Amino acid sequence: MLLAKSISEVRAFHKKNVGTWGLVPTMGALHQGHLSLVARARAENEHVAVSIFVNPTQFAAGSDFEKYPRPLERDLEMLQPFNVDLVFAPTAAEMYPPNFQTYVNVQDLTQPLEGAMRPGHFRGVATVVTKLFNIVQPDRAYFGQKDAQQVAVIRQMVRDLNLPVEIVVGETKREADGLAMSSRNVYLSSEERRAAAVLYRALCAARDAFHNGERGGEKLRAVMRGVLAQEPRATVEYVSAADPATLQELEHIQDRALFSMAVRFGSTRLIDNLLVVA
Ligand code: AMP
Repeated sequence: MLLAKSISEVRAFHKKNVGTWGLVPTMGALHQGHLSLVARARAENEHVAVSIFVNPTQFAAGSDFEKYPRPLERDLEMLQPFNVDLVFAPTAAEMYPPNFQTYVNVQDLTQPLEGAMRPGHFRGVATVVTKLFNIVQPDRAYFGQKDAQQVAVIRQMVRDLNLPVEIVVGETKREADGLAMSSRNVYLSSEERRAAAVLYRALCAARDAFHNGERGGEKLRAVMRGVLAQEPRATVEYVSAADPATLQELEHIQDRALFSMAVRFGSTRLIDNLLVVA
C-alpha cells in the first residue's frame, strides 16, 4: 500500500499500474461505512485507491473544519486488511496551491436541502471530486447513500461534464440502534448519542406510513417531525419528502420518495435518509 502525499506520486504510480482502478473518496476517520465501499471497490477493480482529505472548500467558515477528526495512522491500519493499492492523503496546499481559482458548480440540485443549509458546500464537493477524478483517473468511484444529495450532485456532474467514471453507490451502514455511521458521531456526548437514534426511528415511521398507503408529502413530513419532537435534545433543521431525481419537495408521492433530514444535537449536525419505493 503506497501512501502518497503528492499528486505527482499518484500519477507515477498510476502509470506503472495498468488495469481498472476504483476510487473511494473519504475525509478519513474511517468507519464500517467507508470500509464497505472499500471492500466493494476491491471486489470490482484490479487496483483500489482511497483518498483521505478533509476538504477545506466544502466547509463554511466557523464550521467543524478545524476540529474534524484526522486519525491518519488508525485509518491506515483499518485499510490494511483490504489490500488497498494506494492511499492518497494530500495536504490542503497540494490540492489548493496559491492563486487557485477554478470551481465546479452544479446548479439546481445543489439548491435545496443540504445546499440551502450549507451554502457553498456542494461547490467544494464537486470541485474536489473533479480534482480527485483527474488525479487518480479511476474507472469507478464509490460513494455512500448516506449522503444522498451528494450522490445526486456527483451523478449530474459526471453526466454534464462527460467524466469517464462509473459512479457506484453503497447502502448506508448503521449502528445496532439504527444511527447511520458517521465520522461526526464521535462529537456526541453519551446522552446525545443515545438520543441520535431518533433520526432512524423517524425515517422508519415515515417509511411504514408510506407502505401502509400514505402518499401525502406533508403528512409524511409531519410523521417524521412528530417522532423527532419526542426527543428533547433534537433540534430539527429540515425534514424532507422529496422527488429522488430532482430533490424537490413532493405534495403527492407517486411510487418513490427520498425521506431525509438534518438534526442538531448540541453543536453536532447529523443527516440521514431513506429511499422508499412502492
Ligand atoms: P466522508 O468521509 O464522510 O466524506 O464519507 C466518505 C464516503 O463514505 C462518502 O461517499 C459517504 O457517503 C460514505 N459514507 C459515509 N458514511 C457512510 C455510511 N454510514 N454508510 C455508507 N457509506 C457512508
